[in-house]
Amino acid sequence: MSDATYDIAIVGAGIVGAACAHEFARRGLRVVVVDRDTVGSGATAAGMGHIVVMDDSEAQFALTRYSQHLWQELRRELPDDVEYDQCGTIWVASDEEEMTEVRRKHDHYRERGVATQALDAATLRNFEPNLRPGMAGGLLVPEDGVLYPPCAARFLLERAQQHGVQVRLGCSVAHLGQGRIALSDGLEIRAEFIVNAAGTGSPDLTSGLEIKKRKGHLVITDRYPGFLRHQLVELGYLKSAHSVSSDSVAFNAQPRRTGQVLIGSSRQYGAEHKEVDHAMLVWMLRRAQEYMPGLRAMSTVRSWTGFRAATPDKLPLIGPWSADKSLFLATGHEGLGITTSLGTARILVDQVTGAKPEIPIEPYLPSRVSREHAHV
Ligand SMILES: Cc1cc2nc3c(=O)[nH]c(=O)nc-3n(C[C@H](O)[C@H](O)[C@H](O)COP(=O)(O)OP(=O)(O)OC[C@H]3O[C@@H](n4cnc5c(N)ncnc54)[C@H](O)[C@@H]3O)c2cc1C
Repeated sequence: MSDATYDIAIVGAGIVGAACAHEFARRGLRVVVVDRDTVGSGATAAGMGHIVVMDDSEAQFALTRYSQHLWQELRRELPDDVEYDQCGTIWVASDEEEMTEVRRKHDHYRERGVATQALDAATLRNFEPNLRPGMAGGLLVPEDGVLYPPCAARFLLERAQQHGVQVRLGCSVAHLGQGRIALSDGLEIRAEFIVNAAGTGSPDLTSGLEIKKRKGHLVITDRYPGFLRHQLVELGYLKSAHSVSSDSVAFNAQPRRTGQVLIGSSRQYGAEHKEVDHAMLVWMLRRAQEYMPGLRAMSTVRSWTGFRAATPDKLPLIGPWSADKSLFLATGHEGLGITTSLGTARILVDQVTGAKPEIPIEPYLPSRVSREHAHV
């Protein structure tokens, strides 16, 4: 490493920046983390905290599964306020057509070593009695879990600080590149390598990054212990996540350790304001009530929004940025950044330090977008 003040300067103290700081620190590097706000205050504060294996593509599967294993390894060290709970996911099939998808997913996961259980209508009803009668069945993925994202980010960063990582909060970055970070107050930080982990703020700092904001709404109820036992997601969720233009909602409900029910979720492009959109909220809650009519009688205590950082090919950008030898990216995690933060950190730090990654990294390399730019 050079005589720069730090080996690594990370912009962004969301869960991705925090996980990277934790991983760099574990490997003995001198690190500073800079954020214009507080720890975990961006998408991380808004996220649902579902730690989920997804099979949209082989690359998505590999990163989510790898990351889930890393969360499981860390599990015993997580403090209580991270609320890690391996409650499992049930993908809910409302009709026979969706049961075909249950069977496909079951085979797909089993071939890749993920335990699953296909549920018929009666078993589903037994597992989740508050679902509407008449559901066709579902798929239980017992290793999936949930956690409370801002506390998870705080835990990772505090761990990193115990290894000497410095954290500068309330410092807005105006420019970065060529081993330098210029803060809005005129101060400069020098580092051998910079990591842009600024989530939806990352394209403002690295030109040529194609990342769009994808707004989401969530609602949390009062305490109703035992109402819900697993994270429930409608199989139509995948259609919602795939939609690249129109607004969409999908039933997604999570049991919190407090007995509260966290209800999602919506997806919108082009909605830049962070206020709750009443029509969107009503649409999302109606969808949830179609699946769980008992939600209608519940009091909600808070609703909020957040912005996912979405790339065109739905995969994050993890690795070097070819236009600047000092710059690495860890951004573009859309709706999976809580899950994939630990895997992202591992493969990013492997690249910086020259270690051999445990999963193939090619699908996440930013060179795939810089190549596209060169062709255009
Ligand atoms: C409604 C919703 C539900 C979700 N549910 C889930 C889920 O169940 N499971 C899951 O895995 N993922 C989920 N996600 C996605 C997940 O929340 C994100 O992918 C993840 O939080 C991204 O983390 P990050 O650290 O990259 O970004 P962020 O948390 O946004 O952090 C970026 C940080 O960079 C800082 N920053 C930006 N620009 C600058 C600048 N110029 N100078 C200094 N600092 C800067 C910001 O202040 C911020 O703290 C959800 C997201 C939303 C919106």
